[in-house]
Amino acid sequence: MLEKNWSGTYVYGASRIHTPRTVDEVRDIVASGDRVRALGTRHSFSSLADSPGSLVDLRRIEPVPELDRDAMTVTVSAGVRYGELAAFLQGNGCALHNLGSLPHICVAGACATATHGSGDRNRCLAASVAGIEIVTGGGELVSASRVDSEFAGMVVALGALGIVTRVTLDIEPTYDVRQDSYVDLEWPALDEHLDAVMGSAYSVSMFTDWRERIDRVWLKTRLDGEPFEPPVDVFGARPQPPEQWATLISDDPNLTPRGGSPGPWSERLPHFRLDSTPSNGDEIQSEYFVDRRHAVEAIRAVREVGADLEPVLMIGELRTVAADTMWLSPAYGRDSLALHFTWRNDPREVTRAVAALEAALAPFDARPHWGKVFAIQGGSLARLYDRLDDFRALAERLDPSGQFRNAYVDRLVFGAG
Ligand SMILES: Cc1cc2nc3c(=O)[nH]c(=O)nc-3n(C[C@H](O)[C@H](O)[C@H](O)COP(=O)(O)OP(=O)(O)OC[C@H]3O[C@@H](n4cnc5c(N)ncnc54)[C@H](O)[C@@H]3O)c2cc1C
Repeated sequence: MLEKNWSGTYVYGASRIHTPRTVDEVRDIVASGDRVRALGTRHSFSSLADSPGSLVDLRRIEPVPELDRDAMTVTVSAGVRYGELAAFLQGNGCALHNLGSLPHICVAGACATATHGSGDRNRCLAASVAGIEIVTGGGELVSASRVDSEFAGMVVALGALGIVTRVTLDIEPTYDVRQDSYVDLEWPALDEHLDAVMGSAYSVSMFTDWRERIDRVWLKTRLDGEPFEPPVDVFGARPQPPEQWATLISDDPNLTPRGGSPGPWSERLPHFRLDSTPSNGDEIQSEYFVDRRHAVEAIRAVREVGADLEPVLMIGELRTVAADTMWLSPAYGRDSLALHFTWRNDPREVTRAVAALEAALAPFDARPHWGKVFAIQGGSLARLYDRLDDFRALAERLDPSGQFRNAYVDRLVFGAG
């Protein structure tokens, strides 16, 4: 088949990709009993989405968004991309609580891996899922919502429970955001003021190559109609002069507007514009979540192995994610610092760098991002997730014949091999 993921770094082994137009067609595909898994917009960096049988891509199913202004929810087909949903919501005076760095990913694919943005009080995107419809083993269509006791295991599910066809998300009234960029935050200032820096806006991202200092601090400030003056400096980091907006992560035109101009949440919370290429493209990514209580030490530990990362590192990013209760969420039960690494597309060097990184972060029980590249194996992962046994039991109930299993899920969730 030779279909690849977004970055071209993984070739799917599945024999074919179905592109159904209706949920009934999805049910028929699953009812055949063959091994099958859902494929999102292919932005994960590993074999996670792959299937030893076939894949199902929902992009041809119409989104059909339904707003419920009393419940303040929107219900939409699961294959819709966040950017498209955001435009619909904004057009109707509504908003989501947060977005990831790219609006190109689909809702079900992003939620399946606990994709997140940043913000001390912002949980990952899956936390706003209030209900789902999912085609489970044998083709049964199951609905579940927050009132169900196992719902906390059903949204961040790595595609292992079935094919999510429709999702209901919490919404809120629309709001404006502005982005301000600062340069050169020195390590000692970060050590001393990390909480204050991360708390200085609704969503804060810091970029660094882990050498001299934090190169950029991006503050995404939620305006909510209040007058706002951006800080003169962020603990010594000074406003980035407009002529230096050429960035560390992408060509400038690919990015959402910075420089303080207010705009809708949908056009400021993501780093990248929907109509452009997110990030570099020829790259691999890794990311680890540590408890906020260990954030300063974890950052120090990564700096100490900076020389091991340097040959293959393009850029690092630090964000915060609020704790949630979803069984497989890397922020389960812990307010977290997320340490992200964009690598050059050099798998051998990435393997070396990831080994050094994981050794440095091991004392902090770092949980890897499910959709990115990591080396931690099933046994160690099991120790990091208290509810993994519950998730396995749920998977065995909803998928008794293992239709939605693949090598990744067998190894990392079921600890096989
Ligand atoms: C440039 C770039 C920037 C990124 N930025 C961020 C970021 O800011 N924050 C972050 O946390 N991550 C980020 N990621 C990672 C990305 O958000 C995750 O890997 C996400 O899961 C990708 O979603 P997708 O739609 O491409 O799904 P895929 O990668 O195609 O699939 C991911 C998983 O979702 C499952 N899945 C997909 N659709 C369904 C469905 N309908 N039902 C059930 N399961 C389904 C698949 O089976 C698979 O297990 C980034 C990735 C890239 C390439």
